Amino acid sequence: GATLGVMGGGQLGRMFVHAAQRMGYFTAVLDPDAQSPAGRVSHHHLHGEYLETRHLAELARIADAITTEFENVPAAALEQLAVHRPVAPGGEAVAIAQDRIREKAHFTRCGVACAPHAVIETDEHLALVADSLLPGILKTARLGYDGKGQLRVATREALVQAWNDLGRVPCVLEQMLPLAAECSVVVARGADGRMVHLPPQRNLHRDGILAVTEVFDGVLPDAAAAQAVASTQAIAEGLGYVGVLCVEFFVLQDGSLVVNEMAPRPHNSGHWSLDACDVSQFELQVRTLAGLPLAVPRQHSPAIMLNLLGDLWRGGSTPAEPDWTSILALPGMHLHLYGKTDARVGRKMGHLTVTGPTAAAVRERALKACEVLGIQPFVSA
Ligand code: ATP
Ligand code: MG
Ligand code: MG
Repeated sequence: GATLGVMGGGQLGRMFVHAAQRMGYFTAVLDPDAQSPAGRVSHHHLHGEYLETRHLAELARIADAITTEFENVPAAALEQLAVHRPVAPGGEAVAIAQDRIREKAHFTRCGVACAPHAVIETDEHLALVADSLLPGILKTARLGYDGKGQLRVATREALVQAWNDLGRVPCVLEQMLPLAAECSVVVARGADGRMVHLPPQRNLHRDGILAVTEVFDGVLPDAAAAQAVASTQAIAEGLGYVGVLCVEFFVLQDGSLVVNEMAPRPHNSGHWSLDACDVSQFELQVRTLAGLPLAVPRQHSPAIMLNLLGDLWRGGSTPAEPDWTSILALPGMHLHLYGKTDARVGRKMGHLTVTGPTAAAVRERALKACEVLGIQPFVSA
């Protein structure tokens, strides 16, 4: 049988490995952590740095095609692999997604509006920032995730301080926008240019971290949802992208849509597709990588996904597992745990997808699950 390789061994890689194995593939994972969530369930686990030639040569030897799950895998490593094997997505698309400056330029090139912003790389840039961008959010151009590497600034003084606090690395200052909602779209594009997508997902963030994703009819205004899909397709097309891509958007209070950022891989906001869709985002990743046909995914149940952060593993020195027995006693609960042992605050330990016959039933069940787990209940729509 063929072997599919993945750069990165986090939970996204683990769910990719599950999907690949179910379809009869062998898998190989490269990750620096010997105990990585994906490495532990993979046939082959290469344990080492992403840029080390020895490991890349070994991965290229074992795997027939290679994908990535880790946002910051060095593009140079993907390019080295691509000399020997098909690699999807390609190093160039990944490099653009890793850099907010290049990413925003790409969105603009594709005719998709992003937040008013300025690039800050020097003191001169800082001095030239327009007043209209304040209050704003200063974001490092590279390596941020889950709201890390971002500071909210209300005044010019705060902006100068924030840039120093972030280490004077290249940044983007975005105007703080009045959000009505956030959403995202997962698209898969094959080497032949054919594209399929999941239904637009409504996302709720808390403290810069995704907390809840809801997917059912009417959860987003129709016009915004349609525009999000068209924009995502334009962005993937513009990259000549092969693989699964997720694009995040803001729906503003006036109903208009603004792109936020993209991830060159399956995305936390698409996890619901494992339990409420006939083809999940991870199966789409397998299909694009293996050159299989891309069937249009069909959502067969309304869904709400709750992220399970380390905060839920309460209790100082001896953290206690949440009460899974009570959760699983409720109807429509699909529990996913990533096999991580260190339950730090804000760390993604797992997720819970809630399904049911109607959106109202799913919401009621999800609110019950929040109560059992001690997750702050959400209000939407
Ligand atoms: P991820 O983990 O999704 O990669 P990230 O660290 O890259 O997150 P962003 O997506 O840039 O962070 O921002 C995190 C959240 O902060 C957004 O989902 C949104 O709730 C809020 N936010 C970011 N930029 C803006 C903005 N310009 N105006 C208003 N809210 C914003
Ligand atoms: Mg991000
Ligand atoms: Mg984001």
